[in-house]
Amino acid sequence: MLQFTDLPACTGGTLLQAPTAAAPIHQLLIDSRRVGQPAGALFFALRGPRHDGHRYLAELYGRGVRLFVIDAEAALEGDLAAFPEASFLLVPDVLTALQTVAACHRQQYRLPVVGITGSNGKTIVKEWLAQLLSPDELICKSPLSFNSQVGVPLSVWQLNPTHTLGIFEAGISEPGEMARLAHMIRPTLGLFTNLGTAHDAGFASARAKAEEKMQLFKDVDTLFYCADHALIHEVAQAQLDSRRTARFPWTRQRTLFDGQQADVLITIHDASAERTVVRVERAKPLPQEHTFTLPFADEPSVENALHGLTVLLWRQVAPAEIQRRLDRLQPVAMRLEMKQALNDCYVLDDTYNNDLAGLSLALDALARQPRRGRRALILSDVLESGLPAAELYKRVAAQATAHGVERLIGIGPEISQNQAAFAGLDTAFYADTEAFLTSFQPDQFRHETILVKGARRYGFERIVAVFQQKIHGTVLEVNLDALVHNLNFYRRRLQPGVRLMVMVKAFAYGSGSYEVANLLQFHRADYLAVAYTDEGVDLRQHGISLPIMVMNPSPDAFQKLRQYHLEPEIYSFELLDAYLAAAQEGPLPAIHLKLDTGMRRLGFAEEDVPLLCQLLQRNLGHLRVASALTHLAGADEAQHNEFSQQQLAAFHRMTPQLETALGYSIIKHALNSAGIVRFPEAQLDMVRLGIGLYGVEATGQEQEALRPVSTLRTTISQVKTLPANHTVGYGRRGQAVDHDRRIATLAIGYADGYDRRFGNGAGEVLIRGQRAPIIGNVCMDMCMVDVTHIPDLRAGDTAIIFGEGLTLPELAQRVGTIPYELLTNVSERVKRVFITE
Ligand SMILES: *Cc1c(COP(=O)(O)O)cnc(C)c1O
Repeated sequence: MLQFTDLPACTGGTLLQAPTAAAPIHQLLIDSRRVGQPAGALFFALRGPRHDGHRYLAELYGRGVRLFVIDAEAALEGDLAAFPEASFLLVPDVLTALQTVAACHRQQYRLPVVGITGSNGKTIVKEWLAQLLSPDELICKSPLSFNSQVGVPLSVWQLNPTHTLGIFEAGISEPGEMARLAHMIRPTLGLFTNLGTAHDAGFASARAKAEEKMQLFKDVDTLFYCADHALIHEVAQAQLDSRRTARFPWTRQRTLFDGQQADVLITIHDASAERTVVRVERAKPLPQEHTFTLPFADEPSVENALHGLTVLLWRQVAPAEIQRRLDRLQPVAMRLEMKQALNDCYVLDDTYNNDLAGLSLALDALARQPRRGRRALILSDVLESGLPAAELYKRVAAQATAHGVERLIGIGPEISQNQAAFAGLDTAFYADTEAFLTSFQPDQFRHETILVKGARRYGFERIVAVFQQKIHGTVLEVNLDALVHNLNFYRRRLQPGVRLMVMVKAFAYGSGSYEVANLLQFHRADYLAVAYTDEGVDLRQHGISLPIMVMNPSPDAFQKLRQYHLEPEIYSFELLDAYLAAAQEGPLPAIHLKLDTGMRRLGFAEEDVPLLCQLLQRNLGHLRVASALTHLAGADEAQHNEFSQQQLAAFHRMTPQLETALGYSIIKHALNSAGIVRFPEAQLDMVRLGIGLYGVEATGQEQEALRPVSTLRTTISQVKTLPANHTVGYGRRGQAVDHDRRIATLAIGYADGYDRRFGNGAGEVLIRGQRAPIIGNVCMDMCMVDVTHIPDLRAGDTAIIFGEGLTLPELAQRVGTIPYELLTNVSERVKRVFITE
């Protein structure tokens, strides 16, 4: 692990106020809002056109950050004496230093690394390649599309000794950028996805662009690409030294294949609306032919999947196994996904970035969609074009018109100011996303194909979510930024060096295991825990490489623990015997010993410890213990403090005996979310964070400091008047009403996880910011609310079941349960939508 004092040698910078003790670097920080554990965070004060990281030094210092990289200009102006104990690395250019530190980190690892570049599909190809290889490898990959000059260093920094393969994407917009990315990624294998025809401001010609991108691959052992992209093929031949780099091209054209310009010929054999059957021929090493079915039909997805398929062929994965893995490919959100939306509309979801090049690609995709009614574009301010605004929006308008767009909704201050540019179109403008959503009326959109294209900061996922909500009726919106906020709240409470295990059991408390786990992996949690083996397998198949503890391992699934490298919790002698027996057939992952100190649920009791120690000692050769844990029965309530202390005392009596028997030290952990807040002195080596991550502070004392993560929304299916003296719903339980009332029927019921106990006035929902009580019983798929006091409601309007303004703790109290139950009850049939701000 790099130390702060290694940095002058690595970057050529100068140390000011050098640290007196060892200062290992745990996190590279570029955004002052993302401080987790401040110990070991190294802040890079980057400068941008509208941004200067140096402005945040004092704030970060106040939050405990002690390691900073700054530039000379700042050092002259600032008064560093105001930051006692802080250490500074002074460099000429902070971005270069960030990249150099990442490059030094990368150099510590010798493992195969796949570098991916190309005009389109980098992120999807990366995600799919990771999905396809995850049964064989523990993979470190770029999160989301972290492929820029800043994204790549953060991606590469995630490499750790457990990984067996890296997959990183590289994106550039100007000459000279690729050499810097290549230096950090140091790929040993290369994959060139394709080359778009889009006009790129930064390059003299398409060939110049191809040559620049090819620089990523100058030292790879093997390069994969599709030779049908003639320019890629040409430049690969011209630029790569064939003695150093093997080329592994595939093609869809027999002429290229028979002329031996490509290793693999792939022809489309059959295609339907949902799948594509391809025939694959190879001439080398032996002539062979196979047929595979891809679970996609659209052209870009097929090409992206074929890149992955080629890599598997090259790795000589058996054809039947390749097919199994292809069958499991999951669509990757966030990139040009076509989604069915309200009122027979379709939404092309590109809510990820918004620059001119990206816009023109997205408009191409829109124009390729079959025509059904009008084409509409919902567009945020276009960023980083380098053009004066008036000129920029004139170009945007011309492009939109050229692609058949008839309707434009502009969101953002800049586009609103330049509305004159869009005079030929049917237009509406809003200052921000919130303003659009507030005035959103479902009937304004019918039979349209709508491209939703926005820079990330506009959070256009929410727009897509409301369009989709009208289809799915009910969605659970999971705010990933809130989740990170909560993670950092708990991190700040940890003593230095205490590790963090995060509980993602029960579908991550209802929030979606894989997405949450992926985020936690990026934010460097140390461990994950799931309840059952299959939950762990699922995470591995989605490319999660963090260590995972399985709390209820069943002996018939021990082989899966080995195959997917999952570490079981062992809580009884029966389970231990079974594990030891299985270990005779080959080494098994390390175990976690559960000690029962008073919960009386699972675990070894104190009187079991001597026998346990004997067994461990007898099997030192084929069993490794990673940790010992216990669980407090009443960590959240002061009335149980004495009992909790007794539990901890018992734990402290038991664990030294285990360590003595083993002859090495193990990780010891006892605290859940409530315990982290209430027993800071008992954090030991690790803590286990659960409900707090999802926004519920179990002790109730610090609820204010957490952000709600989940919002459950549904729609109104119908609004009707209920005359006096009538009742509502089954069993005629809704009390006969004394005067006429307006009743709204909501598209959520107990099969969606909306508890029946909310019926007959016990529960309320939020509509237009006002509360509406449940009237009558909650049915299987719907329920009714009294909306007499909320005027002008219509079918399609939104109701919030829980979220901001109607919290889980309040609702749980109303029906005599705990927030955990309400959260985990939300049925898997409810679509999860992930948003970031
Ligand atoms: C679920 C669980 C936790 C997390 O508990 P929270 O109250 O959700 O923080 C911790 N430890 C064990 C053993 C658990 O099963």
